[in-house]
Amino acid sequence: MMSFCEKCHDMAEYTVSERKKTKSIKGKEIQYSGKEAYCSECGNEIFVAEVRDYNLQMLDKAFREQEKLISVSDIERILKKYNIGKRPLSLLLGWGEGTLTRYLNGDIPTKLYSDTLKRILIDEKYMTQILEQNKEQITAHAYGLCEQALGKIDQEIAQNTFELENEDKIDSVVKYLLIHCSEITPMALQKLLYYAQGFYKVFNGEYLFKDDCEAWVHGPVYRNIYYRYKDHGYNPIEENTTEYGSIELTETEEEILNSVITNFGCYSGKTLKRMIHTETPWMVTRKGLGEHEGSDRIIHKELLADYFSKLKSKYNMLNIFDIKDYSMDLFRKLYH
Ligand SMILES: [Zn+2]
Repeated sequence: MMSFCEKCHDMAEYTVSERKKTKSIKGKEIQYSGKEAYCSECGNEIFVAEVRDYNLQMLDKAFREQEKLISVSDIERILKKYNIGKRPLSLLLGWGEGTLTRYLNGDIPTKLYSDTLKRILIDEKYMTQILEQNKEQITAHAYGLCEQALGKIDQEIAQNTFELENEDKIDSVVKYLLIHCSEITPMALQKLLYYAQGFYKVFNGEYLFKDDCEAWVHGPVYRNIYYRYKDHGYNPIEENTTEYGSIELTETEEEILNSVITNFGCYSGKTLKRMIHTETPWMVTRKGLGEHEGSDRIIHKELLADYFSKLKSKYNMLNIFDIKDYSMDLFRKLYH
């Protein structure tokens, strides 16, 4: 690499090294990590355009960081996030229509404008408010695009909240079952989860947890739970349940689990397996598969809901404790 050295009065090779640099902007001392170029012949500092550009960039970055000002890339993120142009957004904010264009080209925003932009980036409700209050300022087309983007963000937030709230539900249910059933094997645990999900749905209208089970050879299996306890084989799961801490279940959820434990928890994993094998959701899902053929087919929740809702009518179940009639009938039929 070569550049002109004023001392040598000639083009000269140069080397570049990192330097801590200080510069005063608007009366403030800004420290940044920049570069300097030196002539390889005489050692004098020389001017290199790329080095100057680099330093300006680093200085700008350091200044924005120190003053907590929004970066250009964050302004770009705003436009992309809300599907809005720089001109319409300037107008929505009551700024000159070229303001954001200047900022995107590197002009440093005032603290006040920067704070507004920073809030817009993270606060969708604020953005919605600005859009609705000032929509007369922009075209119907620009309004439509932004409004659509906000709707999509809204949906995603709702979905994430739902997943977060339901994330550990199955874990709480498992813990509750382990504490309240004596000598429960991994196989029996799977069956009780299945019944709890089915009966909770018909008595409360919602699913107890979001997980789906698969129609394996020995019955429905919640895969994550299977892998957690598979080392126990056909033996009861021995865990120090006193270490569980608090379990997040509502009274209604516990009531259903208590009834499932009372009416199904008394049977062995193998008996429960024979019971479930007579039930539609498992049979329908495995249709066409051989008796010992592995499968990861999902037993769809709708199938579960439909089956348990029919049971509820057939056995005239008025409350969750009436599932006793069904479990006893099921058992009798196996050993008649
Ligand atoms: Zn030189």
